[in-house]
Order: sequence, then structure tokens, then C-alpha cells
Amino acid sequence: MTIPVAQRFQPASSAAAGADRIDRVRLTLFRLPLNTAISDAKVLTGRQKPLTEVAVLVAEIATAGGHNGLGFSYSKRAGGPALYAHAREIAPELIGEDANDIARLWTKLTWAGASVGRSGVAAQAIAATDIALWDLKSKRAGLPLAKLLGAHRAAVRCYNTSGGFLSTPIDDLLHNAERSLTRGIGGIKIKVGQPDAAADLRRLETVREHFGDDVPLMVDANQQWDRATAHRLGRVLEQFKLEWIEEPLDAYDAQGHAALADRLDTPIATGEMLTSVAEHWNLIQAGAADFVQPDAPRVGGITPFLRVAALADHAGLRLAPHFAMEIHVHLAAAYPGEPWVEHFEWLEPLWNERLDLRDGYMLVPARPGLGLTLNEDADAYRAERAEITS
Ligand SMILES: [Mg+2]
Repeated sequence: MTIPVAQRFQPASSAAAGADRIDRVRLTLFRLPLNTAISDAKVLTGRQKPLTEVAVLVAEIATAGGHNGLGFSYSKRAGGPALYAHAREIAPELIGEDANDIARLWTKLTWAGASVGRSGVAAQAIAATDIALWDLKSKRAGLPLAKLLGAHRAAVRCYNTSGGFLSTPIDDLLHNAERSLTRGIGGIKIKVGQPDAAADLRRLETVREHFGDDVPLMVDANQQWDRATAHRLGRVLEQFKLEWIEEPLDAYDAQGHAALADRLDTPIATGEMLTSVAEHWNLIQAGAADFVQPDAPRVGGITPFLRVAALADHAGLRLAPHFAMEIHVHLAAAYPGEPWVEHFEWLEPLWNERLDLRDGYMLVPARPGLGLTLNEDADAYRAERAEITS
């Protein structure tokens, strides 16, 4: 018997008429200010202005049966209002749908906005709702997200980035790093990529001398070297026994990264700027990285992140997701190879909960879902809100 085309594209189960029917989507755009303006190499090379705030798009989804989920996406510098506007336009597509059919709903939302692409802002707007649906599903199962996905570990190695920006004087950087290590964070990443490479090396030498060889260190050039500079500095950096060199080259230079990864002993990490599975596949196929750094909000949510993780695992690569530790602690816990997560406290004003840190590891929350609830005080940062109902 042939199933008519129209029926093939009906919801996969009839539950949409019942308790799992999506009844309400609430979208909120927050603008979270940073305590101090920060700069990485992109500012020192004149490409960007210092970062003063993060725009966060929060999606809250509720079903007729009273289940609910929370997800978020974000933008640094421009893009927050565009994320919100695209999500606002496509969110009605979710009303009446079965909240369980996450992969189908990701595809539906992607087709709804296909004219503006399957990556970039469009993917990142979908991410907030996709992550909310995964949160909802794991809460409904009474499991932390990591457990729903199939966890390999209860805690993930973590390192701090927020204390090591180029706008931070070296004495403050050392103080920040000491504070991070005392809190139970296991590694320290510092920014490099200044026009004056000697200044980068002086900072790195100071940090290595101060903490000795046992503290894991990473550096991040934020795409500001050309190939020749990356090769020359990459050789100089070998002596520091770094965990990795991050984004030495332009995010889309897969061949350049591959040549670097081939020639250096220090692992190469990249992938945070990519916004689709296809872009990550290009990177992985080229052998461009030892560590892949997908970002669930940037790549379009947990649904595509899991595809990237499967490709990375198949290629035998390490995983170090970018930013959004609240989501990535779960996704990293479900990755077969030992991952790292990045500690950034910037989004903490939005949440009631804090992640536990111990002996160099971030503990996977035992609470169902992501284990996050919105703090009422976050209303002070609210820029936009829309309620979409049936
Ligand atoms: Mg980075």
C-alpha cells in the first residue's frame, strides 16, 4: 500500500492532539551588559569594537499537558534583534505540533525560513526553540539532558576564557587565573593574535612561569594570523606545551588549518564560528582540526550539534564546544572522547542556578533538562518579548 504524500508529512504521532501539543511559545530578547568592555585580537587588528554586551534570545515552550522547556541562542555585537525577529516570524509554525518530534520540527522551521538560508541568523534563531524542545523532552523524562542523550561521564574538564582577554592587564590576568583555579576550574585560556606577536609571547611566558607546567593552558588567536604567521608562531609556541592553539586562521580556511595541524605537535582547535553541519563537515573532511569547537546555539541547536559530534567522533577528533557552558556541559558529557567545556560566567545573571566546579571539572547538573530556570531579576535586561499562542 502506498501512503499518500500528504499523509507522509503529517506529524509522526497522533499525540499532537493531546498533552504534548505545543500550546505556547514565548520569545524574549535580553541585552546583558558585561562588567567591563573586553577585546580580543579582532579589536586590536581594527576589525571589531570592544564587546560591551551579549544579546540572548530565550525561547520558552509549553505544551497543553503543562510540560515546558527553555532554550537560548545569543549574539555578540550585532545580530540580537535579527535573531529575535526571525524567531518571532517562524515560531507560529510550532503551535499545535507534537513537542516530541524535535528533528521534524527543526526541518520544518528551516524550510519556513529557507529563503534566507540554512545557516547564520536563520539557524541561530531556530536554535533557541530546538534547545527548548530538548530541554522539554528531558524534563518530561525526568532526566538531565546528558542522561537523555546517553552520558559518558558525570563531570567534564573545564577551562576559563573570560579572565584572559587582551584588554586585561597581565597582573589582572594572573589574578583572574588564580581565582579560576581556586574555584575548581582546570585550565586557563589566554587570548593572542595581537599585531605585536612579541607582546603575546611575553604574556604567555609570564603565565607559564607563574603557574608552572602542570596547569593546562590554551591560546586563542581569534582568526587574526595569516598562514605564514601561524606557521612561524605555531613553531615558537610548541615550547609552551599548550593544550591547543585556537582559531589561528580565518574560520573558513579549512586547508590552511589542515596544513598547520599536520606540521605542528600542538593540537589545533577551531569551528566556533561555523553555523551549519555542512560547514563543520567541510572542516572535518579537510583534517583541519584536532579539537572541533561546535557551538549549539550558533550551529542551529542541539539537533545539528549532535550530527556534528557524530561526524567528529567518527573522525577520531576531540571536542571542545564554544561558549554556552549551560548547554555544552550536557552535550560534552555525552561525547565519547574526553572533551573540554569553556567556562564563561557572562550569562549567569539570567539564571537562578549555578554550575558546580570541582577539581578541574564542571559537574553535569542532576536536575532534569538543562537544569536552568530564568531569574526574575533578568527582566531588568529585557529588550523584547512576544507570546505566540494557539
Ligand atoms: Mg575562541
